[in-house]
Amino acid sequence: MGWTRRRVLARGAVTAAAVGTSTVFATEALALPVVDMEMVLLASQVDPPKADTGLTPGASSHVIEVERALNAKGLLTSGAVDGHYGTSTISAYAAWQRSLGYTGIDANGIPGPTSLTSLGSGRFTLTRTVSTGSRTDTYGGQRVNTRTRSMLAAADAMLSWSLVLSQGSYTSANPSSAGTHDGGGVVDISVTSMTTTQRWETVRALRTVGFAAWLRNPSQGSWPYHIHAVAVSDPDLASAARNQIHDYYFGKNGLANHAPDDTPTAYRSTFTWWEKHLRT
Ligand SMILES: [Zn+2]
Repeated sequence: MGWTRRRVLARGAVTAAAVGTSTVFATEALALPVVDMEMVLLASQVDPPKADTGLTPGASSHVIEVERALNAKGLLTSGAVDGHYGTSTISAYAAWQRSLGYTGIDANGIPGPTSLTSLGSGRFTLTRTVSTGSRTDTYGGQRVNTRTRSMLAAADAMLSWSLVLSQGSYTSANPSSAGTHDGGGVVDISVTSMTTTQRWETVRALRTVGFAAWLRNPSQGSWPYHIHAVAVSDPDLASAARNQIHDYYFGKNGLANHAPDDTPTAYRSTFTWWEKHLRT
């Protein structure tokens, strides 16, 4: 585990510095752990609905640094400093956001770049920072943030037809959306002019660039056929959308029944997110 090794190194370095053998070692002792924000975001979405305190592979060594900092500020009990970004950590992080003056979606318990940088002051440095950009961009006339807009443009470019949005983000106008569109990163795509194959190909394109995307049908709710898409790792996710990322990660449908994903195998895509997609 990365954090264990760093602690051992730091302990040895302090000893070396104390006996005055090396200023190089003394400098190393001051080096702070590096926290990968992408990994913390991943755990903050995947972990909260878990029935146990299971860890998300690749994320726990980063989460535990965040939890140590929350514990040091008196916002998280020592017993919850475990590398699992569960509901206790969500609550503690939301309290940290409120202590900075944030409210509403800004205090959703999911790290944003400003609150996480502030939390890390003197404790850890950040790498792979994720930002939403402006919250008042539009795509096809619907409100989205800059990150979501870039993702939609990339998916659109993979298709020979155009994406038409029927609902954007930061809106609670549609009660059948159950709060999933209240925050950022969430859109509905109209599919009325698409063939069945085109609908699935659109799902695949959206998944390829880092959306959790599902083709919804009228038998599932009081809605017409459409695609509901949630941008994985958007720091502005509402809690209902955040929980859909958990479902998507585990191959479920993101609905109240948490049934298996009904997307045909040929149209599925490896779980990813926008920043990771850009590196591949
Ligand atoms: Zn939707």
